[in-house]
Amino acid sequence: MRRGLACIALLGLLAFVSTHGPLAGLSVVRVVPETKLKLTLLQRLLAQRQSLDIWKEPACVSCAVDIRLTPLESDDVTSALKEHGFKPTILIDDVQLLLDYQRNQLFKRRSAEFDYGQYHTLDEINDWILNKTNVYKSLTLLFNITKSYEGRMMTGLKISTPSQFTKPAFFIMGGIHAREWISPATAIYMFGQMLDRYKIDSDITKMVDMFDWYLLPITNPDGYAFTWTGDQNRLWRKTRSKHGLCYGVDPNRNWDIQWCETEGASKDPCSETYCGPSAFSEVEVKGVAAFLQGIKGLKGFIDVHSYSQLWMSPWGYTRNLSKDFQQQDAASAAATDALHKVYGTKYAHGSIANTIYIASGTSTDWAYGKIDVKYAFGVELRDTEKYGCLLPEDQIIPSGIETLQGLMALASYVKDN
Ligand SMILES: [Zn+2]
Repeated sequence: MRRGLACIALLGLLAFVSTHGPLAGLSVVRVVPETKLKLTLLQRLLAQRQSLDIWKEPACVSCAVDIRLTPLESDDVTSALKEHGFKPTILIDDVQLLLDYQRNQLFKRRSAEFDYGQYHTLDEINDWILNKTNVYKSLTLLFNITKSYEGRMMTGLKISTPSQFTKPAFFIMGGIHAREWISPATAIYMFGQMLDRYKIDSDITKMVDMFDWYLLPITNPDGYAFTWTGDQNRLWRKTRSKHGLCYGVDPNRNWDIQWCETEGASKDPCSETYCGPSAFSEVEVKGVAAFLQGIKGLKGFIDVHSYSQLWMSPWGYTRNLSKDFQQQDAASAAATDALHKVYGTKYAHGSIANTIYIASGTSTDWAYGKIDVKYAFGVELRDTEKYGCLLPEDQIIPSGIETLQGLMALASYVKDN
């Protein structure tokens, strides 16, 4: 409810902002397939329009499907939907208005200190890592994975507290989809708290001591940097490698597991879910995979996305459940229950294919299927209904606080199972 009111207040503010800009008139519409037949029909309709930017794929009966439309696509797609008996409603009337608002917030700021309640550029995030590794020398290590396609170093932060025993490891990666800014922002908040409140807060201390923690905040640095280069690029999702006339591969369809074998990945280089010319074609994905393979005792893994509020375990490529599903899903339930207790934010949980949609070549399937990380998850953060990939900054810290509670519960479960 509180969030609903905030949305109304915000939209009130937006009404006074002008709507000129590269994405003016661009909208997001929502349709809800009410029957199995309608769901299949919608999946078929969208499959015929591979160039559309689907923010939320058709996954289940009565689940919302969000489609971003340019003014040119709008009439054609909405009439096609209506012809087939769907009732499209407007989720975001004008994406440019949201962008204007977010940009105004970005301009208003800038204290020298890193503000966890703001979105940050890649350089600012890398500075934060440097700063943390300088301040907490005995607890942290900076690690480099590889250089991206455009030559940006992929840098992460490891937290490892003193222990007489070798600890299991937990790896969290954010920002694999460039436009999902809440992903790195939430992960950075959590790691910041894990350091700043170590030995101050007993729950955090216990959690930090359980594992060696790895954070790679930005898994797709070229894409992320690109989203900061102007409104027209803010909604970029993929990497920035070039393939014929189009740019980018979906880095979460590029992992070497059932690569591009299902309908949940596209062979069209212009599609938002393009799987790439080959598995691991993306230097960033290949680099992270090699790094993960090198971590001894890796027991937990989370690839953080937005949006939809879901905590998901393998498999993504098939609706069949994994042999460890019961425990994996119990871990998800522990996390989402703890998360829910903070502000009442509801997350669903289950296997990727049964919760969101079939997707092959994903990081989570790879971590579980290829390097035996039993507790591998794909998490979709806030929200579900209003902002999609353009979550306002005032939700970063609440998202960080609740997700940290979820992570604590998850860590305890994973440690004991
Ligand atoms: Zn994503």
